[in-house]
Amino acid sequence: MSSTEPVMVWWRRKHKSYYDYLLSTVGCGKSRKYYCCCNTCERERYTDLGLLSKFGTEIEVLRYFLCRVNHCYNQVPFHIFEHAFCVTQMMYGMVWRCGLQERLGDLDVLILLTSCICHDLDHPGFNNIYQINAKTEFALQYNDISPLENHHCSVAFTVLEQHECNIFRNVSAEDYRKIREGMICCILATDMARHNEILSDFKEIIEEFDFKNRAHVNLGVGSGFITQSAARFMIWRIHSKLPQIFIA
Ligand SMILES: [Zn+2]
Repeated sequence: MSSTEPVMVWWRRKHKSYYDYLLSTVGCGKSRKYYCCCNTCERERYTDLGLLSKFGTEIEVLRYFLCRVNHCYNQVPFHIFEHAFCVTQMMYGMVWRCGLQERLGDLDVLILLTSCICHDLDHPGFNNIYQINAKTEFALQYNDISPLENHHCSVAFTVLEQHECNIFRNVSAEDYRKIREGMICCILATDMARHNEILSDFKEIIEEFDFKNRAHVNLGVGSGFITQSAARFMIWRIHSKLPQIFIA
């Protein structure tokens, strides 16, 4: 990318869009369209970033995991598998564009990608305010505290508990603990009610941001996650300091 090329122009030149992937003729299971997304995640993200070999994940396990995740997304407005796909694609672009694999390490990149794929699992189509006001099962279960995000996270780890879907089954206990902690942190950060709090905390440390400081990285990752899940591309431009931090 040249220094004068707008990020989005570079992005579109380097990466295919979701609809490009629909041209694939591979088909199976739920629908051809859905399978292609799984296939794309598998090939373009985990494999491309070398995560399978680094964490001993078998390709078949990844395939089962992605298909299972796929089936756990409901046909509701917006929070469908295609949305998770787009968020993951954006993260994948950020990882490459901002050199996050070198700056954060493989484990954090694995956490980020997997959190993106799982962040809206089994979304019922109604927001947290509705859940709380209607005293739904989710609100009662999680005491009105980010009921949806807690549910998405819980479903993610329920899927991962299935041996044939557990893409982390060959990592050490210590790495698994970090993965679980990281994914919970990322997915809970997608609660819109927490956006202002996380972003204002992040703004306070922007000037002295340090990739070696775990608290800084967590805030940066949380803000980055918000950046994508809130409005994907547009917020990228609005919070102009965020990419500068990562690119600097
Ligand atoms: Zn989302």
